[in-house]
Amino acid sequence: MVIGGCPAGYTAAMYLARAALKPLVFAGEKAGGQLMLTTEVENYPGFAEGIMGPKLMEEMKKQAEKFGAEILDKNVSKVEMYGEVKKVWVGEEVFEAETVVIATGAESKMLGIGEEKCLGRGVSTCAVCDAAFFKDKKVFVIGGGDAAMEDVLALTKFASEVGVIHRRDSLRASKIMQERVLGNDKVKMWWESVVAGVKGEGVLKEIVIKNVKSGEEKKVEADGLFLAIGHIPETKLFEGQLALDEKGFVKVKMYEEGIKIEGYPTMTSIEGVFGAGDVVDFRYKQAVTAAGMGCQAALDVERYLSR
Ligand SMILES: Cc1cc2nc3c(=O)[nH]c(=O)nc-3n(C[C@H](O)[C@H](O)[C@H](O)COP(=O)(O)OP(=O)(O)OC[C@H]3O[C@@H](n4cnc5c(N)ncnc54)[C@H](O)[C@@H]3O)c2cc1C
Repeated sequence: MVIGGCPAGYTAAMYLARAALKPLVFAGEKAGGQLMLTTEVENYPGFAEGIMGPKLMEEMKKQAEKFGAEILDKNVSKVEMYGEVKKVWVGEEVFEAETVVIATGAESKMLGIGEEKCLGRGVSTCAVCDAAFFKDKKVFVIGGGDAAMEDVLALTKFASEVGVIHRRDSLRASKIMQERVLGNDKVKMWWESVVAGVKGEGVLKEIVIKNVKSGEEKKVEADGLFLAIGHIPETKLFEGQLALDEKGFVKVKMYEEGIKIEGYPTMTSIEGVFGAGDVVDFRYKQAVTAAGMGCQAALDVERYLSR
């Protein structure tokens, strides 16, 4: 069984189906995953002209089904991962298998002030994915950690101005990252500030920046707003069963032991349960890395079952 209908889940299913292992995929109510929320994807290999996120997911699903994967767009409500037979519930219905690949992904933390309506149209959660769309534009990044500073530096290669909005008066990021960001002429710091409003009819036009000390609000034109305030892995289902890290990401063996030729790098803390994609990957969070990990998990499953 595969939980997640997404780059990692569909890729795992395609490999498992081609290995005649009859995968059953629970794609969930958010079938297709995060790429359903975006427009053009320019960095997925094989599509020189780019491809729309939902179209890419439709193609991945079709490819898995072509080889015999069964895909249900249903949410898993409960799991029992211990023992030789793994159990997965969808409401009252229970499904069983010897192995499970978990690919439930992660969600970017949002502000909850209506910015979702401009997601993929000015508002982004991924500078690596979208920086190149903002050539000579005025953009803002919210965040103060290393990941946010990486986003800022990626954006300075394209944008004309990068505003960094941070609620405190100093950054959390490492000293070297701070030096790089603060020394860049394109960067303008908005200390002790938060975004209090997002304006635009479908496409971002303007943001409202509020100083948390004085309470003063300022409307500023914005072509882009990048949220770099973290991710929440979708792992509530597995709490108390699988080992999770302090942020809730599923732990797999490769992060603790490295990739060993005789081991199962994508296996979780429970025998026969594997993890792939953003639910595991707290670092790269790309469609291609998720798909790659889905492939790794399927190959680990195949070897585990044949042994
Ligand atoms: C707006 C946006 C734009 C992006 N642009 C790009 C880009 O241009 N290039 C790029 O490489 N990456 C991009 N990304 C990142 C990329 O989308 C993710 O890295 C990738 O989708 C992660 O894939 P995943 O397989 O780990 O799972 P996800 O895509 O996170 O999908 C998780 C899946 O798990 C399912 N699920 C969760 N809980 C349950 C449950 N209880 N039962 C059943 N199913 C469940 C969901 O329904 C979903 O199908 C973007 C992300 C966003 C949000």
